[in-house]
Amino acid sequence: MRSLVNRLASRCIAQIHIRSTAKMSQAWGYASSQLPPEKWHEQYPIANGKNQSPIDLVCSAATVKDFPDFNLSYKPSDLKNVVNNGHSVTFFASGGASVLSGGPLSSQYTLEQFHFHWGEDSRRGSEHLLDGKSFAAEVHLVHWNSEKYESFVESLNHPDGLCVLGAFLQKSEAENANYKQLLSEIKEVPLQDDKRDVERKFDPRILLPENIKNYFHYSGSLTTPPLNECVQWVVFKTPVDLSEEQLQAFRDLHIGKEKDTPCLCDNYRPPQDVGTREVFSC
Ligand SMILES: [Zn+2]
Repeated sequence: MRSLVNRLASRCIAQIHIRSTAKMSQAWGYASSQLPPEKWHEQYPIANGKNQSPIDLVCSAATVKDFPDFNLSYKPSDLKNVVNNGHSVTFFASGGASVLSGGPLSSQYTLEQFHFHWGEDSRRGSEHLLDGKSFAAEVHLVHWNSEKYESFVESLNHPDGLCVLGAFLQKSEAENANYKQLLSEIKEVPLQDDKRDVERKFDPRILLPENIKNYFHYSGSLTTPPLNECVQWVVFKTPVDLSEEQLQAFRDLHIGKEKDTPCLCDNYRPPQDVGTREVFSC
């Protein structure tokens, strides 16, 4: 009898503990019902670190530097799947066939995934700013340092662990044929936790602007929790054009598991202090 009472009591305590833990760790996000970016530091103290991203990329404040050309050995390899995780829509690569080196990088990096940030309308949505200007959206191609580290996860613990290529997406009159198929696949994952296999050859290079010689480079962080300061950032100066209808495909996604949940929009972190960091421009 006593052991039954003890078991019940400990179960009660466990439930109280689960409840209080759940209350303490409000899910991070961008919507008003979630832990907003300005409070992420409550759960992720590194949010107040000195090397956080994104930032406002100011041309006149950047150090002009010539870097070698990028060596983008992007093989049209198989995509694995596309996922709506309630924070963004992410395409995962498989096989590690696409690698990147050159530019400001001193190691070879392997493509892991790419995802997007966007606004509720085309006047905002990018994470980085260009001379204070925001764009309708931003694509991030996330690579990990496969020359120095064993895995993507291990790379998260090192300042040169990841290289993210960022490109601004802006509204234009014409449709972008390079994005057409991707955007139809995004429509397949409208609700949070939706996941679809994407089995086809894909060349990630088509996501980027034609001109990849002009960009900003700086050391920063993941722009979403856990916000590790492990990213060598490269943000291209030339935006990629998408039509308003194409940009709308992102806004038709939802942050919940039901169609009547709010749209997954404005999933961008505001710019962080550059501090004493040097930002390079080429
Ligand atoms: Zn991102």
